[in-house]
Amino acid sequence: MLFSRQSFLVAGLSRSGVSASEYLLGRGAKVFVYDDVEEGAVAENAAALERKGAKIVHKEDLSDCTARCDVLVLSPGIPVDHPLPVSFRRAGKRIIGETELGALAVRCPVVAVTGTNGKTTTVTMIEGILQEAGKRALACGNIGKPLSSCAEALGEDGIAVAEISSFQLETLYSLRPHVAVVLNITEDHLNRHYNMENYVYLKERLLRNSGESEYAVLNYDDPVVRAFAEKTKANVVWFSLKERVDGGYLSEGALCYNGEKILAESELPLQGAHNTANALAAICACKLMGADTRAIVRALTQFRGVAHRLQKAGEVNGITFIDDSKATNVDSAIKAIGSVKGETVLLLGGKDKGYAYEPLFEAIRNSSVVHTVLYGENAFRILNAALKKGYASVTLCRPFDLAVKVAYLTAKRGQNVLLSPASASFDSFRNYEERGERFSELVASFGAGEPSNTEQTQEAEDFGENAAEE
Ligand code: ADP
Repeated sequence: MLFSRQSFLVAGLSRSGVSASEYLLGRGAKVFVYDDVEEGAVAENAAALERKGAKIVHKEDLSDCTARCDVLVLSPGIPVDHPLPVSFRRAGKRIIGETELGALAVRCPVVAVTGTNGKTTTVTMIEGILQEAGKRALACGNIGKPLSSCAEALGEDGIAVAEISSFQLETLYSLRPHVAVVLNITEDHLNRHYNMENYVYLKERLLRNSGESEYAVLNYDDPVVRAFAEKTKANVVWFSLKERVDGGYLSEGALCYNGEKILAESELPLQGAHNTANALAAICACKLMGADTRAIVRALTQFRGVAHRLQKAGEVNGITFIDDSKATNVDSAIKAIGSVKGETVLLLGGKDKGYAYEPLFEAIRNSSVVHTVLYGENAFRILNAALKKGYASVTLCRPFDLAVKVAYLTAKRGQNVLLSPASASFDSFRNYEERGERFSELVASFGAGEPSNTEQTQEAEDFGENAAEE
């Protein structure tokens, strides 16, 4: 793409929009920047880009600008059926994402990871292993460091370990990962992608450019992901918790790779079979990138997980509080319910994403969950699903703070309180991190013997990709 001859409209000015704008300005392109929000951090980002040569576009000038620009760079937070991309498409113009610019810029091998759940955990594991093996690996993409801003620093001898979400895949065309990992596909984001067919189609696009010299690391246990093997030209390497496959598998309590025992499952610090699956996927990817077994063992035994994913938030009066605020869909909450040891009071609820919640109550019925506290905008939808499944050990209370307090008062010494909401956070918080932090604050206030009186954050929808992608 000859940047200096073209005009770009960058829509959405969170991290990736800023990175895309800077990338384009650095290559002599004419850059217009736009965001629905014109205050706070977004306004500061716009002003900083203006100082570097971008032109800020306001709502009233948007259609003029659409006519003038050749390419729309769309934030992953903005759906492709938003009126702005629709107007570009109608005019026959290109729509790309920041990750597409990253894919055009990157000169080193890429390990790309997608899937409904476990992307951040697996990307962090892979980065840790490759660094332990002495390689210049960097976690980037949806994890928070835009690929386009890392490409230069990675040069030719680094390794980009890129987390790629379905939102990014909507506007990504050129990425050709040396190793593409697909972890799992379960119901998520259907409020954005409309149906499972479309969601699966988007995930499969990670493999669209892979050829015979590339690798696809696929989950053998997930029938949807397994079917990708029939369509890709890449060499398939499997991982499985159930079968002895070509690739990574479990045998006699050990994680193995093609006949070699790597480490015992009991040596993994993270709880849950889903994390063993993540580790197997990471082992496959790192073996393909040339990591030695000792580095893999060192990195995985030291891996302490990522914040807000099944992390202990504290202990008060013999009750353990677990923060799994990143469980924003049904499958991740089911995995948490199956992983936590001991009797548990579960906190569920938040912003609805259009799921069927019934499978949650099938899992709860066969678990050590002794009571469920529902809160948030979708509390009544979840209650409905519970009652349909004949589950009535439920308390419903709307504000988050109150729900956490009720869960605390319901739990007995020796039990857990698990926040694994199966819902996004935007009904009451800016994002899942803020929800998890509020949970920890409340736990600390219980420990201090008094309720915290910090104001709960007001509803905040923004154009930012991280917020929108829960
Ligand atoms: P992502 O980046 O895909 O959102 P994370 O690693 O951030 O994935 O984890 C998100 C949530 O999913 C957390 O609640 C975590 O405990 C859970 N999780 C992690 N790995 C898996 C997996 N392989 N299958 C299902 N849930 C998982």
